[in-house]
Amino acid sequence: MEKGLKTNDYVIFVENLFKRYGKFDVLKGISFKIKDNEIIGFLGPNGAGKTTTMNILTGCISYVEGVVEVFGCDVFNNPIKAKKNIGYLPENPPLYQNMTVYEYLKFVCEIKKVKEIKKEIERVVELCSLKEKKDKLIFSLSKGFKQRVGIAQALVSNPKVLILDEPTSGLDPAQIVQVRQLIRSLKKEHTIILSTHILSEIQAVCDRIIIINNGEIVADATEEELLKSDENIYFVKVFCSLEEKVRNIFAEYVEYLEIKELSVNSDGTIDIKIIVKNGYKGENLAISNIFLKNNIPILKFYENTLTLEQLFIQLIEKKI
Ligand code: ATP
Repeated sequence: MEKGLKTNDYVIFVENLFKRYGKFDVLKGISFKIKDNEIIGFLGPNGAGKTTTMNILTGCISYVEGVVEVFGCDVFNNPIKAKKNIGYLPENPPLYQNMTVYEYLKFVCEIKKVKEIKKEIERVVELCSLKEKKDKLIFSLSKGFKQRVGIAQALVSNPKVLILDEPTSGLDPAQIVQVRQLIRSLKKEHTIILSTHILSEIQAVCDRIIIINNGEIVADATEEELLKSDENIYFVKVFCSLEEKVRNIFAEYVEYLEIKELSVNSDGTIDIKIIVKNGYKGENLAISNIFLKNNIPILKFYENTLTLEQLFIQLIEKKI
């Protein structure tokens, strides 16, 4: 835990959480903490344990061992109090197709024991831009509007935490943009965990990414932190055909620059892959200066930055 912080300084506090089905360990002692008004992207391949974790957080299923607290309230020992702070949009929200949007939200308000039902329906309808659809039967709505109804039901009673399982799955690009905008707008008032397979969604919406694989957390950081690699890689194409010359020039920089690959082309150019080591700063200027100082014209110069997709595959492959 961060120095000086207590469990109830976090909106969600999960420590050493184990879940087992028979002899199969689905969650192998996972830990993570989420602060107020963060949007967390919860990412992982099929069968990694995302839904299991969300079902535990929402008090739908039990667990073997560990601590799971929502606002300092233990989900296992005090489920009703903990659940009051959580709104859940499951992957397939249980919408009653033959109710109108209004009737369905009224039903959810009654279950959640909301006092001023009319006012609450107006609030969530307004937030989710459902005003024009409120008297329509749910089955007649498009997938995007059904998803808004799903989010609206999660917002009933204004829970501090929203857990959204694949909120944009099956939507068309325009609906995806609208639902993402809605999620972003909810950040002001809520802490959000968003489970998705769509990496661009994480990049568009989330403040932090937690990646789970085989029941273990393999990454927990911001996108920037995750993509910051210890070694920077540069690709340079130069107008020169003397491999020896290039290698000799770089010999004196061996402490922080390494030629990883070099290929001499038939058109009198050389392609070079250079790795910058030891956290050396200002490398692109330094590399280009080395060539220029030695009268070798640079034809192409680019840095290889890791994408979230490449990183995700690396992390997942390491553990399989
Ligand atoms: P997906 O992205 O496919 O929805 P997930 O990350 O949400 O996957 P979970 O649904 O949490 O994964 O499942 C994790 C593992 O636990 C899977 O191997 C799954 O088969 C297993 N599992 C889930 N529920 C049960 C159950 N009730 N009984 C036995 N095994 C289960």
